[in-house]
Amino acid sequence: METKRGKVPNNAERSWEPERVQLMAQGLLLREQGYQCDHGVLYFRASRTRVDIQFTPELEQRTLELLAAAQRAQRATTMPAPLEDSPKCFGCSLAGICLPDETTLLRHEHPGAGGEPRRLFPARDDATPFYVQEQGAQVGKSKETLVVRARGEVLAKARLLDVSQLVLCGNISVTAQALHLLCERGIPLLHVSMGHWFYGVTGAVGPRNAYDRAAQFRAADDPDRRLEFARQVVATKIRNQRTMLRRNGTGVDKQVLDGLTRDAAAAEACPAVDRLLGIEGSAGARYFSGFASMIRAGSDTQDFDFEGRNRRPPRDPVNALLSFAYAMLSKELTTAILAQGLDPHWGLYHAPRHGRPALALDLMEEFRPLIADSAVLSAINTRMLERKDFVVGKSGCSMKPEARKALVRAYEARLDQLVTHPLFDYRCSWRSVIRLQVQLFARWLRGDVPSYQGMTTR
Ligand code: SF4
Repeated sequence: METKRGKVPNNAERSWEPERVQLMAQGLLLREQGYQCDHGVLYFRASRTRVDIQFTPELEQRTLELLAAAQRAQRATTMPAPLEDSPKCFGCSLAGICLPDETTLLRHEHPGAGGEPRRLFPARDDATPFYVQEQGAQVGKSKETLVVRARGEVLAKARLLDVSQLVLCGNISVTAQALHLLCERGIPLLHVSMGHWFYGVTGAVGPRNAYDRAAQFRAADDPDRRLEFARQVVATKIRNQRTMLRRNGTGVDKQVLDGLTRDAAAAEACPAVDRLLGIEGSAGARYFSGFASMIRAGSDTQDFDFEGRNRRPPRDPVNALLSFAYAMLSKELTTAILAQGLDPHWGLYHAPRHGRPALALDLMEEFRPLIADSAVLSAINTRMLERKDFVVGKSGCSMKPEARKALVRAYEARLDQLVTHPLFDYRCSWRSVIRLQVQLFARWLRGDVPSYQGMTTR
């Protein structure tokens, strides 16, 4: 007898096929142990009804077929194609991983042929990253809550339910109890320096999907696929740089915008990955030549002069902010790539180099202007920062803790903002878009969709 919580179904069999098959499978197990077993009973608790199910040869045959199919699926090394336009996808816990409508749309040659994609996952995540920046602090736990203490005082608390990742910036320790709890719940701990240089991750997100990684290494070894992907990455980034200037810049020279349009077209037609570096470089120079026009003029912002991109070390506050924001973005992509089971260090466009998260750098290109640059501009233009929050010396410009905190706030606010996805036409947060792009990249690696399409905004 199998008990069901619901009511007896209003159909001819007074039961659903999965329920009958489940019962038959239990009957087969009993038979294997020597019991005679020719029927079973479904008991529907909500309607207090018993339904007898006869173990007919047809039901037995169907159960054995489904068992064989389940065993084949278990042994398979590729994901089955998603259902098309199925009502079952609503409420399916796998919808955010499976992306049924997005995959179907991208598999059709003409966008839109797969129908209007339904957004089957929440527009925003309920949980967000929890940053600890107070040097010398310790993160412990109390029941289901993380507690940050320093010098005997409680500085902050966060319910585990609300935390998507714990980001430890600099010299922060974690108790063994808190560490175990975070690993148990699959919440990663990210270790970054005070300047947000990304050291690594501790936690349950590990490379679980060996087949995706194998597909990644095969693609990285295939010159045609590398070129196809690299063209898309660079062209998308340039288009997004152009959009940023067009939307936010004042008095931007038309030649700059036209030049970026030409650079994007050149990237799309580029015959070799090595040549893309040159196109990306000249587009970058063009874009940063107009970057200062996006800083709103005002007595508070005149301290944020910008004469061009420089780094290692950055020499002025705007460059220090940009470097810091790119480091945070690289951490974001690395975490999303690890969660997808891919190797963040094996890139297709950026060459793998010891300690360099090359794939994270590949996939973050399209987001640099839209997320990192946008967060920096928002922090400056909304007066979240002042010149006194920076120290400029001979060895470059560094950010004081107040500047770092302000930029983290601006960056997280940007990730939480909703945007309309240009391909799928639904709204979701930038954080969800990053995850979605990494998932679609994995689908392209596996050959589930014919191309990887970068994220652009209008
Ligand atoms: S979301 Fe995917 S796994 Fe879930 S019902 Fe739809 S196709 Fe099946």
